[in-house]
Amino acid sequence: LLSPSGAVAQTIFAEMSELAARTGAVNLGQGFPDVDGPEHLKDAAVAAIRAGHNQYPPGAGIPQLREAVAAHQGRHYGLTVDPGTEVLVTAGATEAIAATILALAGPGDEVLTIEPYYDSYAASIAMAGATHRTIALRPGPDGFHLDPDDARAAFTDRTRLVLVNTPHNPTGTVLTTAELTLLAELAAARDAVIVTDEVYEHLTYDGVRHVPLATLPAAAGRTLTISSAGKSLSFTGWKVGWVHGPAELVTAVRTVKQFLTYVASGPFQYAVAGALSDEDGRTGEYVTGLRTSLQERRDLLVESLDAAGFVTVRPAGTYFVVADAAPLGFDDAVDLCRRLPELAGVVGIPVSAFCAAGSATAQGLRSWVRFTYVKRESVLHRAAEGLARLR
Ligand code: PMP
Ligand code: GLN
Repeated sequence: LLSPSGAVAQTIFAEMSELAARTGAVNLGQGFPDVDGPEHLKDAAVAAIRAGHNQYPPGAGIPQLREAVAAHQGRHYGLTVDPGTEVLVTAGATEAIAATILALAGPGDEVLTIEPYYDSYAASIAMAGATHRTIALRPGPDGFHLDPDDARAAFTDRTRLVLVNTPHNPTGTVLTTAELTLLAELAAARDAVIVTDEVYEHLTYDGVRHVPLATLPAAAGRTLTISSAGKSLSFTGWKVGWVHGPAELVTAVRTVKQFLTYVASGPFQYAVAGALSDEDGRTGEYVTGLRTSLQERRDLLVESLDAAGFVTVRPAGTYFVVADAAPLGFDDAVDLCRRLPELAGVVGIPVSAFCAAGSATAQGLRSWVRFTYVKRESVLHRAAEGLARLR
């Protein structure tokens, strides 16, 4: 994050992955799969390199990928998207987020996010010189929820953007249609643009369905939807992302994107285009299998954490579960995470790393840790044995 002095610290993910590497602890910190995505997509990427797709791709992304994104949004969600003017390919969702915020918000503007939030949001808002305001996602007996009064109070005449993330990192919450509708209506009332980060759109469990904000009537005409191939396909290093929405908003984002990376991931764009169009159904099969296996691995980790004495909230989506260490006598998760390699041979991430320093939400979630279950079962079993030593 950018500190108030302007110094750039390393991300919490890099810090915790280094800690895992140094101590040999099981890395349940940074969210990346320890098994690659499907072979047929690796073959497609290699074929694209061999076919000579190795120079700058078009600025908006290759037409095949923009068409595949539009077709994907139509097939899965019934959205009508013009691949010519309403889709921009980016260097992962991260660049789409940064370019969107830099394009649409500046000094004097307020950008609203749901706290805890993915760490790049605060950094991008700081780089834009805009003001960051938050709406708390609070733990309750049946999961994390937004309080409608908090949401109403957060919007002001200066709200320029509301940046939503569902399924939600770090809590694994899938926001309900009612919560999303309220946010969309509040945004419409203030004429704010909605930005929605849906990178975990295909990773939901127990039959819970992801509702894309752009499908809600109140969000129509004011929503930029961001996603990427990393999570659904288990190729987080390929960094192929996209943003789609009204043409004039996408054009504004593209203007900024030109000066961030210009273009990225040329050959991978061909492989992802093939995956999203999925003419032979192989990618759909892969994603269905991944969803099932992640649900099983979620259950394994949640049960291990419960058995070790944490209080968990069973996540309905994503790679992550958050767990409260207070019942184990640890009330400071930052301190606990530094000691976890020694105490349990495991690395996790304090949930406060996803909060504004010193905020009420950070205080409320002070003893909570995020763990990822996108690891092989054998690795999760090893983590379970270590976590059991905490009791
Ligand atoms: N948004 C969220 C909520 C994420 O969890 C991640 C990945 N950790 C990203 C964005 C970044 O996605 P990408 O790797 O495609 O840039
Ligand atoms: N999105 C991944 C996570 O939340 C990590 C991405 C990163 O390292 N920036 O763990």
